[in-house]
Amino acid sequence: MQIDEIFLSLQGETEFVGIPFLFVRFSGCNLRCSYCDTPAAFTISPTCHIHFHGQESFLSNPLSIEQLTTLLSPYQGYWLSFTGGEPLLQREALETCLTHLKGFRFWMETNGTLPEALSPIIFSHIDVWSMDLKLPSAIGKNLWETQERFFSRIAETGKTIILKVILTPTTTLEEMEEVWKHFLLWREKTRSLSLTFQPMTSEKKVIQSESLRWAYEKTLSWPDGKVHLIPQIHPILQIP
Ligand code: SF4
Repeated sequence: MQIDEIFLSLQGETEFVGIPFLFVRFSGCNLRCSYCDTPAAFTISPTCHIHFHGQESFLSNPLSIEQLTTLLSPYQGYWLSFTGGEPLLQREALETCLTHLKGFRFWMETNGTLPEALSPIIFSHIDVWSMDLKLPSAIGKNLWETQERFFSRIAETGKTIILKVILTPTTTLEEMEEVWKHFLLWREKTRSLSLTFQPMTSEKKVIQSESLRWAYEKTLSWPDGKVHLIPQIHPILQIP
């Protein structure tokens, strides 16, 4: 498996923010979002960067499941996030991880654009799906139809799904209305659904935008605690 980075940090996004998480960052991504903060994951790195508690080391790619098990087994009981890049690009490696790593709660961080890569093994092991909503202003094309298919498949599992949308200065109010329309429609398919508005953060500051103000008002209007407005905390806390 081609892994860019393995580290222990805090969950920096969604309503799980602040909880310790192991992160396994898969190399490679099928998108090129304008706001991407992990461009290193676009390409296959010859080495995997490992950092726990300020101690760092490197292993040559590809990693074996035995190497990964040895590295991660002292952390059983933690949440383990598969992130990227896009982990579903390496479906077989992901399935190997899910069937061999024991004692973790699994979190899938996905751009939600590869419905054909989903499989029964993945469905049965992932506890929480964190699915980005990819807007045309950020990726240069409309992927709603693909994201709809992806969502419909993961909704059938009944697992927790968190939709996340990044707010940038180029996000339009029409796009925000589209996000909201999909959130309301998709709630009909599963009640285990929440939505996080995440304003972009740069140089420790949240970037102001009309979509941020729109999201603030929308969050205030929603009483059941399933809609959140949360900035990225990693750059603010200056942690990995
Ligand atoms: S999907 Fe994620 S990793 Fe890929 S380009 Fe977009 S933000 Fe970056």
